[in-house]
Amino acid sequence: MKVKKVVTMSERAVLVCGGAGFIGSNFVRFLLRRGARPVVVLDKLTYAGNRISLPSDSSLEFVRGDIADSALVSDLLRSYQPRWLVNLAAETHVDRSIESPEPFLQTNVVGTFRLLESVRKWLAQAGAAGRDFRFLQVSTDEVYGSLPQSERAAEGCAYAPRSPYAASKAAADHFVAAYAVTYGLPILLTNCSNNFGPYQYPEKLIPLMILSALEGRELPVYGDGLYVRDWLYVEDHCEALAAVLERGELGSRYNIGAGNELTNLAVVQKICEAVERMLPAAKNPALQRAGAQQYGELIRFVEDRPGHDRRYALDSSKIRRELGWRPRHDFETALQRTVAWYSANRSWCAQVLAGRYDLRRLGLLRVSAPE
Ligand code: NAD
Repeated sequence: MKVKKVVTMSERAVLVCGGAGFIGSNFVRFLLRRGARPVVVLDKLTYAGNRISLPSDSSLEFVRGDIADSALVSDLLRSYQPRWLVNLAAETHVDRSIESPEPFLQTNVVGTFRLLESVRKWLAQAGAAGRDFRFLQVSTDEVYGSLPQSERAAEGCAYAPRSPYAASKAAADHFVAAYAVTYGLPILLTNCSNNFGPYQYPEKLIPLMILSALEGRELPVYGDGLYVRDWLYVEDHCEALAAVLERGELGSRYNIGAGNELTNLAVVQKICEAVERMLPAAKNPALQRAGAQQYGELIRFVEDRPGHDRRYALDSSKIRRELGWRPRHDFETALQRTVAWYSANRSWCAQVLAGRYDLRRLGLLRVSAPE
């Protein structure tokens, strides 16, 4: 049997690109809890990235900047000589990619490419400082495209991206995989299903619905609501990323999914139930103002997303079998915890939304009629 060297957390710096975003800020907390020293965050602070999502910790260093800024990234690599670089920096909202695809190309493709180039050049002259370095690219299940009911995408499946977001992530993944083959870069790649949990920007389905329900606003469900996604609690994702960094085989990719396949409508209904358990509709003045007796009455079916993928589903048996990872949180409990977090952190929500996003519908194609 091949014995894999287990790399522990505290040996050298970890550079987390996009660490002020949803998964990034959860992963930074996770790393600090596990004793990683120092954790260096490189983040451009787009609308989705926020310093207030990060803890104050003397072992955390924050650098505001772009992954596409080669001079800055090279400087960080030389200064910190990280053991791990985790790339979570990205434009991530499908609806925004429909409205305005260019930033997705710039950050997700060009940014990742520049990051790879900076790493390649650094490793070429780093000598012992680059020993055991690992580059982890965090990607999505959306690159596999829409799947029929009986299928799950395994790691060997061909990519079939269908939104500008998915296409940009797919292109970046191809560059990452190609750099392993062509230049021998020590890369790892993960494809994960939909995450939920604390610190997710409230444009995404779960936080948007929780806040809207609490505030008695309509709960817009796209199309017939029967689009299926596989939901994973962010804490479980963090554990999976650590398992891949510590024990993953270089050059490999790993799917990460919990197998919580649910329609969007079912998710919204479960959110209504979870909000009801925490704040019964009868005691929520916002609901009375909206003229509703129950949270479910706020659900509205609205115009569908253009090119909406019907179903994503991952076969994540490889990471379970080879690295021993499995999700520790069941969907209902994690959802209840998430509802409680958003309810208790309304000031975080207000601050990250202020002047950036007004909760309006994004990503509808408006083709003007010919004169
Ligand atoms: P997010 O939108 O919450 O955060 C992205 C972060 O990247 C933000 O802090 C933003 O400021 C930063 N950023 C954007 N452009 C940058 C640039 N050019 N340079 C430096 N920083 C930049 O995203 P997320 O949900 O945390 O997703 C993180 C990663 O995980 C992404 O690559 C995404 O594709 C992937 N992913 C997310 C999910 C999910 O459900 N959220 C699922 C699978 C994979």
